[in-house]
Amino acid sequence: MSSVIITGASRGIGRSIAEEFAMNGYDLFLICRNSIESLCKTADELRQKYNIRVNCHKCDVSNPDDIDSLPAELFNADILINNAGISYVGLLQDMSVKEWQDTVNTNLSSCFYMSRKVLPAMIQKQSGRIVNISSVWGNVGASMEVAYSASKGGVNSFTKALAKETAPSGICVNAVAFGYIDTEMNSHLSTEEKNALFEEIPAGRPGSCSEAAKFVFSVCTSPSYLTGQVITFDGAWV
Ligand code: NDP
Repeated sequence: MSSVIITGASRGIGRSIAEEFAMNGYDLFLICRNSIESLCKTADELRQKYNIRVNCHKCDVSNPDDIDSLPAELFNADILINNAGISYVGLLQDMSVKEWQDTVNTNLSSCFYMSRKVLPAMIQKQSGRIVNISSVWGNVGASMEVAYSASKGGVNSFTKALAKETAPSGICVNAVAFGYIDTEMNSHLSTEEKNALFEEIPAGRPGSCSEAAKFVFSVCTSPSYLTGQVITFDGAWV
C-alpha cells in the first residue's frame, strides 16, 4: 500500500489533499502545528470512510528538532506534500525579524527539513514524489506580501534545483502555485475585497479546496517525466 505525508492537513487545502489520497486508497501521515484535535477528527472520519491507515502528528515543520522527533516510519512514505504555510499581510517595514523568520521557516525551510528526511528512503527505492505547495505570488510577487512572496519564490527554485539533483534517482519534485483558493488563509479579506478579487480572475471565482486537491493528486500520479516544474493553478488569474 502506498503512503503519503501531508503537512498542514488540519484544514483548508491540506485537509482536502488528505481526503483525495484517502479516497484513492493511500495510507496517510498527517501533520499540523496547533489544531491537533481537528486533525485527529479528520483522521477518524477518513479511517472510517475509506478503510485506510491514518497517523496524526503535532509537529511544527518550521522547527527541525520537532521534525527529528517524528517516528522514523513516517519517512519511508512514497510521497511528501509540503503544504503547511502561513501568510503575513502588511508593509515590509512594519514586519518584525521574528515574523520574517516565521514566514520563511514555515513556508520554505520546512521543505528542506522534510525533504531531507524522506530522501534517503526514496533514493534507496529509486522512486518517490515530492510536491511543494507554492503560490502565484512566488511567481510574480505581491505588494504587502513581500516575505510570503520571497518564501514561495524560494520554494519554486528549491523545487527546480532538487528535481535536477534527484531525477537520476527516480524521484519527481514539482511545485503547484495556487491562485486564490477559498480557505481560512484569506479570512482577513472582507466580502467586498473578495468580490473585487473574483472579478479580476478570468474564471470568475475562487478555486475550491477539492479542485486544488485533485490537481495535486494528478501531479503525484502523472508520468514520471513530469519533474522540476512549477505548475500554476489559478483560473488564468496572474
Ligand atoms: P490554512 O491557513 O487554511 O491552513 C494552513 C495549514 O498549515 C493548517 O493545517 C496549519 O495547521 C498548518 N501549519 C501552519 N504552520 C505550520 C507549521 N509551522 N507546522 C505545521 N503545520 C503548520 O491555509 P491554506 O489551506 O489556504 O494553505 C495551504 C498552502 O497553500 C499554504 O502553503 C499556502 O501558502 C498555499 N496557498 C494558499 C492559497 C490560498 O488562496 N488559500 C493560495 C496560494 C498558496 P495549524 O493550524 O495546526 O497550525
